[in-house]
Amino acid sequence: MLYLSDVILPIASPPLYRGAVRVEEAEVVAVGRAADLPPQPGETVVDLGASTLLPGFINAHCHLDYTKFRGSIAPKQSFTEWIKTINALRRSFTTEDYIESIAQGFELLAQGGVTTVANIEAFPELLPHLPVPPLRTWWFLELIDVRARVNQDQMLRDCLSFFEKHTDWLGGFGLSPHAPYTASVDLYRLARTCGEKYGMLSTTHIAESVEEHEMFSYGRGPLHDFLGSLGRDNSDCGHGSALSHLVEHGVIANDCIIAHLNYLQDYDYELVARTGASVVHCPKCHTYFGHAPFPLKALREYGVNVCLGTDSLASNNSLDMRSEMREVQEFHSLGDREVLEMVLLNGAQALGQTGKLGQISPGSVADLVAFAHEPASESSSGSPEIDPYRRVVQSRKPPVLLLVHGRRIPLG
Ligand SMILES: [Zn+2]
Repeated sequence: MLYLSDVILPIASPPLYRGAVRVEEAEVVAVGRAADLPPQPGETVVDLGASTLLPGFINAHCHLDYTKFRGSIAPKQSFTEWIKTINALRRSFTTEDYIESIAQGFELLAQGGVTTVANIEAFPELLPHLPVPPLRTWWFLELIDVRARVNQDQMLRDCLSFFEKHTDWLGGFGLSPHAPYTASVDLYRLARTCGEKYGMLSTTHIAESVEEHEMFSYGRGPLHDFLGSLGRDNSDCGHGSALSHLVEHGVIANDCIIAHLNYLQDYDYELVARTGASVVHCPKCHTYFGHAPFPLKALREYGVNVCLGTDSLASNNSLDMRSEMREVQEFHSLGDREVLEMVLLNGAQALGQTGKLGQISPGSVADLVAFAHEPASESSSGSPEIDPYRRVVQSRKPPVLLLVHGRRIPLG
């Protein structure tokens, strides 16, 4: 199959004008100028015309369970109040609600050009009820033990055997100790052990709110008191940042994706860099909560791999990665190419998929998206004078093509 497009952004190499991508089954086998890649005898050709073709977006942090919570929690609550509200909402939802939520989430992601998502799954018992996911999905099983211990070992065994049997589910399976205030060090250790034993990735939320920062760094504040009232033994608080608490126990490594990391002590930069963990910033969720500025520049200066995610619709109004890219540009001086690289190359690195996802090159997986050129931003289609990266970041419409593993995903 040969895809032609007026502009191709391979991301790991310079833009191509009037380019071609050859896909065989699930793999890209060649990319170049259309003139250099003529169709082979009998090959199907798809000409996307006045469009930009690039790797499908990677959303490195999402909770599809909560898609139907959209608009349910007004912004500007304190983080502690938000947690209480979402917990009440969670209890009001039925199994059918959650299944519908996940399906709607996939639909929204596809409409925004996402082909890979790192999804945190709070209800692994839903998995057997779900159809084969349309997108490449890493399912991170959420682990929480603040109120009571559950049989994590049994749940883990069930999930491992589920994914062994469902080889048509693209992506992977990992663990997500929720956050240091809701998950014990034992749960983080379990995730670490699974990383070492099975090569499983993990993800977690760290230092998301000022309340969490106060709780760990100074042993005080509303989150500290709220969790204390639930019976949490807060003896781990007041000795250092939330991140240092986990790093000291040796439970964060380079197979971990840390969501947020908004509030850091000076010593944390060195710590996170040393672990090799990736950080996922969720720009619109960040604005929703009104957090202090995200320390993007400092993290990047320390060599930390920072990628982007949407978080859930309980703290966002869309799952569109282009609006996340525009949002991060509002607050940080980042070029269009840089934000696309954060989503694609850094997202792929976070998932251990460098060279496979987030770029178009021979040997990469055929996860591709194409956006038609929108007349408002054009003088002439495919013209080299229009910055091709900017055109993608500024585009608003759904894609004209979405390929996952070489297969075309129907769009609404
Ligand atoms: Zn989250």
